[in-house]
Amino acid sequence: MFTAPVLIVGAGACGLTAALAVRQQGLDVLVLERDDRPSGNTALSSGMIPACDTRFQRVKHIVDNAAIMAADIQNKNKGLANRDLVFEVASLSGSTVEWLADSHGVPFELVDGFLYPGHTRVRMHAPPGRTGAELMVALLRAARNQAIDLMTSARVVDLFADRDGRVAGVRVERPGGETEDIGCATLILACNGFGGNRRMVREYIPEMADATYFGHAGNTGDAVLWGTQLGAALGDMDAYQGHGSVAVPHGILITWALMMEGGIQVNAAGQRFSNEHQGYSEQAMAVLQQPGQVAWDIYDGRIHELGMQFEDYRLAQGAGAILTARSVEELGKMTNLPAEALSETLRHCEEMAGNLASDSFGRDFSTKPTLQPPYCAVRVGGALFHTQGGLNVDLDARVLRTDGTRLPNLFAAGGAARGLSGTGAAGYLSGNGLLSAVVLGRIAGKSAAALADK
Ligand SMILES: Cc1cc2nc3c(=O)[nH]c(=O)nc-3n(C[C@H](O)[C@H](O)[C@H](O)COP(=O)(O)OP(=O)(O)OC[C@H]3O[C@@H](n4cnc5c(N)ncnc54)[C@H](O)[C@@H]3O)c2cc1C
Repeated sequence: MFTAPVLIVGAGACGLTAALAVRQQGLDVLVLERDDRPSGNTALSSGMIPACDTRFQRVKHIVDNAAIMAADIQNKNKGLANRDLVFEVASLSGSTVEWLADSHGVPFELVDGFLYPGHTRVRMHAPPGRTGAELMVALLRAARNQAIDLMTSARVVDLFADRDGRVAGVRVERPGGETEDIGCATLILACNGFGGNRRMVREYIPEMADATYFGHAGNTGDAVLWGTQLGAALGDMDAYQGHGSVAVPHGILITWALMMEGGIQVNAAGQRFSNEHQGYSEQAMAVLQQPGQVAWDIYDGRIHELGMQFEDYRLAQGAGAILTARSVEELGKMTNLPAEALSETLRHCEEMAGNLASDSFGRDFSTKPTLQPPYCAVRVGGALFHTQGGLNVDLDARVLRTDGTRLPNLFAAGGAARGLSGTGAAGYLSGNGLLSAVVLGRIAGKSAAALADK
């Protein structure tokens, strides 16, 4: 049986970053990916990775550090994530993004012009088109340049472990049904969470059981299932990233930047129903609770220009999802929303912007210009993007048993590991997903290589 020093399950951002870190330690690594072309949730994402104290920030005179970033993450999750892990990941975020950019050619730009809910600093780093597909292209190219072995169409269906939980290898199933066993000194689970497993979503996140899953279908919770069999502890299994702005029926993500720059969401009655600035994750449920389970993003031409930075948004524009109207009356006709109620909602927003009234949902309207014609609108729904609960890990990304001890040679990161978002939907701070994938993934790669090399 072929044996790899480090074996990685899953070739998304986490698996590929981990593999790059292993190669940096001079060890061979084999990545196993179920799809014939690796994509994962990473390719579906906007490719935005939060990182602090980077050279990209310094050029723009943005003062940021691990303490500020960790505080943002912990404020959003109400202090419910592992504080030490959050700080460790925040501390290594800047060097990881710079390493991916400078040593591996990932084309990061600092995304400025708006802040996501809960971010107190501009710290999102993304490829020029703001797509995870570009991130995947860059990571796959880097993996090729580093001569990383990647086996595609290779679904891992089982792990072999001794009674102590030491993993000896895995069984891989090929599309034709034939199987192959591969040994390993260390194993990294980078096969994301269980968003693609309806039964597990129903069990752990019942509120999202019937919601649209907008992530990668192949993320079926294998890491959690295997880890549990080995006695691993699970954490925050009800945590998830939702999103309250997916174009209906087009199924295209409409960036939350529109809301942060002054846009609002209204329901079929033309009325706002929430504080849009709390976060897009919890907004998934808020939208699903509206009549018809839909809402309308309402904004204007100024904000539309910001949206055009995003490839997904341009796609939505091309698909006819974005409506433009010269007046509120025309907007009412185009959307079938009651123009009078819509007009009243906009008038109230103007009052709040001028500090003549306050928002019953708690949003501060005074920091952005009021909406002006031409108005824009997109019909949107709420969706489950990915799960945030998973295998409990320590600061070396080692998987822990329920008694807190380490399993002998098992590592997890990205969506396979317990995330940084505490519980439920509201703890998710924008970027927590890829942050855990690339930073914890890099940690996992380094630690697994060090253990395999002993
Ligand atoms: C629409 C959308 C937008 C998002 N935008 C952002 C964003 O801008 N910023 C951010 O931080 N996060 C974002 N996220 C979340 C982010 O995409 C994920 O948190 C991140 O990609 C997880 O990376 P990963 O490598 O752990 O998982 P993935 O990228 O999903 O990779 C896991 C891989 O494992 C493979 N796999 C699964 N099971 C097996 C098996 N048994 N055998 C072999 N292979 C297997 C899968 O096929 C997949 O390729 C978004 C998510 C969605 C859905």
